[in-house]
Amino acid sequence: MEYQLAIIGGGPAGYTAAEAAGKAGLKVVLFEENNVGGVCLNEGCIPTKTLLYSAKVHDSARHASKYGVNVADVSADLPKIISRKSRIVRKLTLGIKGKLAACNVEIVNGHAEIVDKNHVRCNGATYACGKQMLCAGSETFIPPLTGLSDVGYWTHRHALDCKELPASLAVIGGGVIGMEFASFFNSLGVKVTVIEMLDKILGPMDREISAMLCAEYAKRGVVFLLGTKVTGVAQEQDGIHVVYENGQGAGVAVAERLLLSVGRRPATKGFGLENLGLKHTERGLIQTDEHLQSSVEGVYVCGDLNGVSLLAHTAVREAEVAVNHILGVDDRMDYRAVPSVVYTNPEVAGVGATEEMLQQAQVPHRALKIPMAYSGRFVAENEGLNGLCKVLVADDDTVLGAHVLGNPASEIITLATMAIETKMKLKDWKKIIFPHPTVCEIFREAL
Ligand SMILES: Cc1cc2nc3c(=O)[nH]c(=O)nc-3n(C[C@H](O)[C@H](O)[C@H](O)COP(=O)(O)OP(=O)(O)OC[C@H]3O[C@@H](n4cnc5c(N)ncnc54)[C@H](O)[C@@H]3O)c2cc1C
Repeated sequence: MEYQLAIIGGGPAGYTAAEAAGKAGLKVVLFEENNVGGVCLNEGCIPTKTLLYSAKVHDSARHASKYGVNVADVSADLPKIISRKSRIVRKLTLGIKGKLAACNVEIVNGHAEIVDKNHVRCNGATYACGKQMLCAGSETFIPPLTGLSDVGYWTHRHALDCKELPASLAVIGGGVIGMEFASFFNSLGVKVTVIEMLDKILGPMDREISAMLCAEYAKRGVVFLLGTKVTGVAQEQDGIHVVYENGQGAGVAVAERLLLSVGRRPATKGFGLENLGLKHTERGLIQTDEHLQSSVEGVYVCGDLNGVSLLAHTAVREAEVAVNHILGVDDRMDYRAVPSVVYTNPEVAGVGATEEMLQQAQVPHRALKIPMAYSGRFVAENEGLNGLCKVLVADDDTVLGAHVLGNPASEIITLATMAIETKMKLKDWKKIIFPHPTVCEIFREAL
């Protein structure tokens, strides 16, 4: 059977590409060895946000009296929270399958292996194809820690399906995934310790805002060990011992459970990638151009597999750009305005450059900073909380970056993303009429 496009991996990159190419009339085959929807729908973005929403409702109920509402006996029903999450995942993955069927995409359930640039093998059959799109995603990085194999540790998969709440949880890695789980378990009353090698949480996100979020969670009882290197783990009678070193010397954190969240890596092994002889960058990533085409003509690499951004929305946009290139439509990938969100409560969102990046690169800029309390709507809905909105502006009055701490940062960051993407000048942004009262008015106030 001859296909115009063979896609390996049915996550956000793969299913977006399949839908777009199928809609355009191409004959498409999509290989997926697990569930269509990939990590994002099955074990990433959607399940985590579903759990975090339950935690947010729980927080709101616990603090309802601040808003003049009395709620008695607030408690969390973990099995119900987990089964609601599974139901939502099922519903959304079914929706994706339906959309692909409507675009005449053939889905093959099995482990695909690349034979060469025009042939893929799966379930004992060989599929001939004009072009290939590789969207195999990424995998959890398990650090080589002494004693790890003797300890029943969790990754995000275990945490998403946990049967009962542990009394305490040690999280190794204070990046986005680590902090989202720290937030979930802290909200439900688990004693959480976050151990992070860097001197800040949330990796490359804005330092000032990351520090504010860290302080907020420390107030809620999360213990942060920053600038701390884990040297080993061991199962002892009183729990898992996480042995570490930091500026204060050596120490041990003890917890009932251990969650590893030190990062993800492109999943490049085990599906015949080496048969293509693709070129790699100096950082060891698969080399792609602005159309997501690899060094081999007709082979595209999208989503986490290319290692550029490791976010679902980047994967979606890359897939669109790649399909447009196949269809001869002019389009290019631009990474200047990729928003990042941390769905803690309060949320953090950022897009474009951070102050630290601009300072390091000596890019002239000015930082417009304003407390979230300048938004009347924010004040009305966030009793006792404050946040920060920061807009970084270039000398030509275009926006270089924007960073927000405060709900709903995940929703309002798109305004700044559009300003960066379209190179909008501040004077033009100011002319836009914002609905009142909304939290997004904070940008008008900042400008
Ligand atoms: C806990 C967690 C939370 C996250 N939260 C967010 C978030 O809030 N927002 C966000 O933007 N991103 C989030 N991410 C990241 C996001 O999930 C990924 O960026 C996104 O899924 C990448 O999409 P992809 O299509 O590149 O790959 P994936 O979603 O990883 O899909 C790749 C698919 O390829 C399949 N596959 C691989 N090899 C083969 C083969 N040889 N044959 C057949 N099938 C194969 C896999 O089974 C998989 O289904 C989160 C990730 C995790 C782990």
